[in-house]
Formats: sequence, structure tokens, C-alpha cells
Amino acid sequence: MIEYDTVLRARRLVTAAGEDSGCVGVAGGRIAAISPLEGGLDGRRVIELGEDVVLLPGLVDSHVHVNEPGRTEWEGFATATRAAAAGGVTTIIDMPLNSIPPTVDVAALEVKRKAAEGQCLVDVGFWGGAVPGNRGELHGLHDAGVFGFKCFLLHSGVDEFPPLHPSDLDGYMETLRGFDGLLIVHAEDAAAIDQAPSCHGRRYLDFLSSRPRAAESLAIGQIIQAARRTGTRAHILHLSSSDALPMLARARRDGVRVTAETCPHYLVLAAEEVPDGATQFKCCPPVREASNRELLWRSLADGTIDCVVSDHSPCTPELKRLDIGDFGLAWGGIASLELGLPVVWTEARRRGFSLTDVVRWMAEGPARLLGLQHKGRIGLGDDADFCVFAPDEAFVVDPERLHHKNPLTPYDGRPLLGVVRSTWLRGEELAGERPRGQLLTRGGA
Ligand SMILES: [Zn+2]
Repeated sequence: MIEYDTVLRARRLVTAAGEDSGCVGVAGGRIAAISPLEGGLDGRRVIELGEDVVLLPGLVDSHVHVNEPGRTEWEGFATATRAAAAGGVTTIIDMPLNSIPPTVDVAALEVKRKAAEGQCLVDVGFWGGAVPGNRGELHGLHDAGVFGFKCFLLHSGVDEFPPLHPSDLDGYMETLRGFDGLLIVHAEDAAAIDQAPSCHGRRYLDFLSSRPRAAESLAIGQIIQAARRTGTRAHILHLSSSDALPMLARARRDGVRVTAETCPHYLVLAAEEVPDGATQFKCCPPVREASNRELLWRSLADGTIDCVVSDHSPCTPELKRLDIGDFGLAWGGIASLELGLPVVWTEARRRGFSLTDVVRWMAEGPARLLGLQHKGRIGLGDDADFCVFAPDEAFVVDPERLHHKNPLTPYDGRPLLGVVRSTWLRGEELAGERPRGQLLTRGGA
């Protein structure tokens, strides 16, 4: 009989086939065998998992702003990957902006990689940026291993990462088409936002009306058209408005290569419940009404939305301007890398979804978007990345116990269900601070 490095014996196990019990044999950091619990597998080390936990694949979070170097006081590789590990996330992909330099050419990508080197507890990959003037850099960045290219269609919040004009979309997408690159888009239309009432003050509903649904619909319409014309793959980041869902569903039925993600905060929070002055709830696009949230859930169920990822975007507490609670002045961004799984699971379970669904949205979906063939699933040959999750254990969010650098969170004090007991990367439990994460390249892992 073969002896594996490690065998995990799970009363509950989520594989691509659904939930069952089973043994997982790990050899050389990969999943080498999956068998029924009875009969079992032989291992140099055998881990018996209790009745109260489920063995899930490690989650893949394709939307994380690490901000190092340049704004490391907002978040850095050590703290972000520590938060990921604590949250059952074994792969993160870093966004190209908010760090300085932004990842818009190969030299900047090298700066990022150097900064990340030796600091990461989990695996880390990088998105590139598509900004005015860097069309000629895209192919080089692609060859250097970025997973795709992010663009904005309105001011990004930082001057060193300017937006594309909608009329630029076709040209950039033509270039990407040349090497089957992926464009990922912050989809809010600048003109629509300019025409909306401007936002200042403490009222959340004023902030909400400054970022109307129409701005998202307009931008998404433009992206779909460009994807339709060019045949290039496009991905809608942090979809907030349910108004755009029918358009997305129709485009996909027509064979347009467009996918979409949403985030835990859009699925759980509601505009009606955001207290005035509570700028920890500010993000762009904004958290919308409860009725909107219900339609997002429906689209997760029917597959119009592919993934749920954090858009973990922290900043220093001063920038949230909690002293005056002004939504116009506060930095937008919600930090939830560590809390995504329990936040989504608590709400998903209440709605009758299973852990298999959650794994589809938070592990398989993002891995497919990224083309990570050995991540996001428990299957033969996949990386032995696991999250050991106690789905019935309750806790209350205490920001003091979070691991990211600036633990301000809109989930402060929120009762949640589901505790990550341990996280495993390539067959080893992530315990302590020894950074074993690898820097991933597209197609490489
Ligand atoms: Zn983001």
C-alpha cells in the first residue's frame, strides 16, 4: 500500500462532486488520492478531523489591495497574507493600484515581487494595470505572468492610476485579444457620476445617490459592447447594482466572454442599515438597498455572478475620517479578507445554500477566472490547499483579533457563524509566522 506524506480523514469533505466524507492523501504538496473513509489511506502522518468541521479547498481571493510598497501603512504583504491565512484563504491576487509604483509595466511588477518576496504566508499573484499610455506594456506584463489587467472608467481615487476613456476600451481590448488577455474593470461611468448629486456630509443616503446604479449600468454596457466587438475576455469587478444583471445574463447567453464578481459586503449589508457618519461602510460602488441585495443572491444561484471575492481595500483609520463621518471625504474601501468566509456563510446558510455553493463562489469560481488549474478544488493533482472550517461555531467579530494591518471593519460586533480552525498550504498547516507562500504567475501554478 502507498504511504502518503499526510492523510486527512474528514467526516465532511467538499469536493467538486459535492459534500461527502472521505480521506485525502497528500504527496509532494499535492492531492494524490481521495478515497472513502472506510478502508482509508496510509500516511506517515494521519490527521483525524472532528465531526464538527468540514474540509474545504483553500479559498482563492482574486481581489485584494495589498498596497506595498508605497502605501504599506495601509496594508502590506505580511499582514494581508496573515489575514488571508486566518480566513481560510490560500491564494490572493494583488490589485495593481494603491501601491507605488502602480503595476503598469514590467519594472513595477518586479518592484512588487521584490517587496512581496519572503513575506507571504499564502500564495500571491499579481494583476497588471491598463492606464492611458501603457498599451505597449500589456504584452510584456502578460509574458511576465500577471493574471490580467485592471482598468477604471472614472477617477480611481489615486492620481498615479488614471482611468481609461470608454472610447479607449476597443483599442486596449484589441491588444489583449492578441494574446487572449483578460480585462478586469471597475465599472462605474465617469460622466454619470459627474451628473449625480455630489456627496458631502454624514448621510449615507446622500453618498448612495452620488454613486447611482445608472453609472454601473452604463459602464457595464460599454464593456459588454467592447467584449462583443473584440471577442476579448472581460470581467466586471465588485458588481453592486442588480440593474446590470439582465444585461450580463443576456450577453453571456449570446456567447460574449464576460464574467462578474460581487463581494461579501454587497451580499450582507444594506444601505437602509448603514448609520449616518459610519464611513467604515464606504466603498465604491456603494452598498445598496436590501431589495438590490436579494437580486444579487438570486444571480449567484443562477450563475450570472461567478465569484464572491473580498475587494479587501484597507487604509489608515484617519483616512476614514470617522472624526467627522463625512462620506465625501472618507477613503472608500472595506477590509474583509479574513472575514469573507464566515460573513458569506452566515448569510448563505440562512438562505438555504450549502458549503458546496460557497466553495463554488469563493474558491472554484475565482480559480477558474484566473486560470489556476490546481487551485480552488479538492481533486486529484490539485495543490493540497485546505481550509478546515467549523460551520456551526458562532463568534462575534472583534476588530482587535483581526490580523490585517488596520482592523477597522463594518462587521465590528457582528455575530457570525463559522470559524476557520486551520489553513493548509501545499500539505502543511499554516501555523506561526513562517512565510511559505509562493509568488504565482499566470499559467505557472
Ligand atoms: Zn478593489
